[in-house]
Amino acid sequence: MRLSRYFMPILKENPKEAEIVSHRLMLRAGMIRQQSQGIYSWLPLGKRVLDKVNAIIRDEQNRAGAIELSMPTLQSAELWQESGRYDAYGKEMLRIKDRQDRPMLYGPTNEEMVTDIFRSSVKSYKDLPLNLYHIQLKFRDEIRPRFGTMRSREFMMKDAYSFDLTREAAEHSYNKMFAAYLRTFDRLGLRAIPMRADTGPIGGKLSHEFIILADTGESEVFCHKDFVDFDIPGKHTDFDSVEGLQAIFDKWTSLYAATSEMHDEAAFNAVPEGDRLSARGIEVGHIFYFGTKYSEPMGAKVQGPDGKEHFVHMGSYGIGPTRLVPAIIEASHDDNGIIWPASVAPFDIVVINMKAGDQACDDTCELIYAALTKAGKDVLYDDTDDRAGTKFATADLIGVPVQIIAGPRAVANGEVEVKDRKTGARETMTIEAAINRFVA
Ligand code: ATP
Ligand code: MG
Repeated sequence: MRLSRYFMPILKENPKEAEIVSHRLMLRAGMIRQQSQGIYSWLPLGKRVLDKVNAIIRDEQNRAGAIELSMPTLQSAELWQESGRYDAYGKEMLRIKDRQDRPMLYGPTNEEMVTDIFRSSVKSYKDLPLNLYHIQLKFRDEIRPRFGTMRSREFMMKDAYSFDLTREAAEHSYNKMFAAYLRTFDRLGLRAIPMRADTGPIGGKLSHEFIILADTGESEVFCHKDFVDFDIPGKHTDFDSVEGLQAIFDKWTSLYAATSEMHDEAAFNAVPEGDRLSARGIEVGHIFYFGTKYSEPMGAKVQGPDGKEHFVHMGSYGIGPTRLVPAIIEASHDDNGIIWPASVAPFDIVVINMKAGDQACDDTCELIYAALTKAGKDVLYDDTDDRAGTKFATADLIGVPVQIIAGPRAVANGEVEVKDRKTGARETMTIEAAINRFVA
């Protein structure tokens, strides 16, 4: 991508409305724009990151056996009257009438709709287990939307829903998502700690929130510090192994970890003082097992091996991609801007032409840009006629992991500089060496 032809509206000044660093940097880097309170457009740079986050989430959901579909944002109120949640949900639900005066709503979550899909076609235990997910916009009319897309009214959620014949089978489905979440957050460059959580309006029995430790987090959390170094399940984890997944779950719940709603002071005080971590955290995922809470009122049942009908046991599993992007920034930035983990960086490499219009600089940059693009890298080429200082500041701000800098003096020697955004380390090398370093 040539920056001169791209759309990346950088802000020079710090936007006043932004209270936390991720919101400030997302606005300054031209990633998002607020359209009305708590409702955002994702501009091209932000969209690239969001897409990469979603690709990782999708990959790990698929690995764990979940199946993607797509459900609408607008739902009929009737479904919610069946489950009894239409009145219970309160003012967070945006209620709409269509031209026939039928009550509709902008979905805050999809338990009812997916249960309806399930009951319309699944009739036998032989079709279980089943886990259906989508990555879709939600709307919750939050009383206090803030911190940009961290807490917005319209936001994206990956929501998965599992269906099983028995509680035991449902626990295996729960453990699959538990392990998938550990892997997902790890691949996003984050350390998320599962904490015992309140089940809230979704309702249920077993629930964990996945929390990232960050000073700007809205949750107050308490845990054993060893969680920070626990091993993540590997990519060859067998998701069909009941014992294997139970062992992962047992290990990751063996030490104290709870949000303030579930905090047990006495149990926490039993942790040796030097091992206690009491901190702020950002909730990036939340999983629930809630048994037959929706299947009973909505009549979602299957025939069991005993020939009888059974209400299915369900769970739901949410991740917030539009919250994860700022959460990653909270965890990874410096005074100059964002430092993206390679897995979600909007571009892999930025090529900086320090003197656009200078034939040797232009030729060198074009050569590098073409070679790296051909090798499958996402390359941003800063071919604008801005001052070098402005270009460096922009490259640091948008946090692309590698900068290849071509200035007239180095280029005259057949060389460029390669800078690592995270460490700041710079190395001068030949043009060929710079290309070879990033071409596998
Ligand atoms: P919170 O406690 O932060 O309000 P929640 O418990 O209501 O969130 P869930 O119903 O558990 O949220 O939703 C699953 C995930 O969706 C959350 O873990 C979070 O990542 C994301 N999410 C929920 N509400 C928002 C929001 N207003 N803005 C952005 N992401 C959100
Ligand atoms: Mg939650």
